[in-house]
Amino acid sequence: MTFFEARNVNLHFGSFHVLRDVSFEFGKGDVLVVCGPSGSGKSTLIRSINRLASPLTSGSMSIQGCDLMSLPRQDLYRRIGMVFQRFNLFQHLTVLENVALPQRRVLGRNRREAADRARALLDRVGLADKADTYPVRLSGGQQQRVAICRTLAMEPELLLFDEPTSALDPEMVGEVLQVMRGLASGGMTMIVVTHEMGFARELGTEILFMEQGQVVERASPVDFFASPREARTRAFLDQIL
Ligand code: ADP
Ligand code: MG
Repeated sequence: MTFFEARNVNLHFGSFHVLRDVSFEFGKGDVLVVCGPSGSGKSTLIRSINRLASPLTSGSMSIQGCDLMSLPRQDLYRRIGMVFQRFNLFQHLTVLENVALPQRRVLGRNRREAADRARALLDRVGLADKADTYPVRLSGGQQQRVAICRTLAMEPELLLFDEPTSALDPEMVGEVLQVMRGLASGGMTMIVVTHEMGFARELGTEILFMEQGQVVERASPVDFFASPREARTRAFLDQIL
């Protein structure tokens, strides 16, 4: 059953045609991996899902049959969570407050409830002992794990990741991928923009390869890596593997 659907999505920045007739769909619990060269429109695509990019020029996107473009912003943010490349934690708040505050603001949870839930999430990603620390004292990998907790605290139906490990030092990539692995195996529905092809191969339900704003290839991880149909996909894989 279709959970998410993008149909003939086009998006322009001024006269620049960034997304060109992008269509795809996936089911609940799927992990859609999006890859492609820099500038191919990956960030724009996932940002357009929760309306952080310009409005679509044409086409539509829906989640469980519900049109995303007409969904009130508050509902959209609640139902679809986003994890950014650069964490974007609130620097003046402790780790616990970073995870608790949005729950109070967006979900109307009381202080106690929000803090309890934040602690449980931090525990799950191995950061229970950092609750009262400020982000500046954490490594990049730890900050990204906090950012994931903050997003999870909203109990989203869909999680979007935009290159969640590419701002990290290599030794910290593993700890963030480990958290994402746990989410995927726990049945979380996710769209992950990443160059981590190990992750894509292991956890991707489907891989979408983009170039110049177009979906060049959509395939299962097995087919994508073993026998890509398109010459452009092969050239990309030759470069990064
Ligand atoms: P990717 O994430 O695949 O590297 P992006 O979605 O960030 O690609 O960018 C796709 C194209 O759109 C690039 O050519 C980029 O320069 C351009 N672009 C991205 N954001 C904007 C913007 N806000 N205004 C104008 N052009 C943009
Ligand atoms: Mg990007």
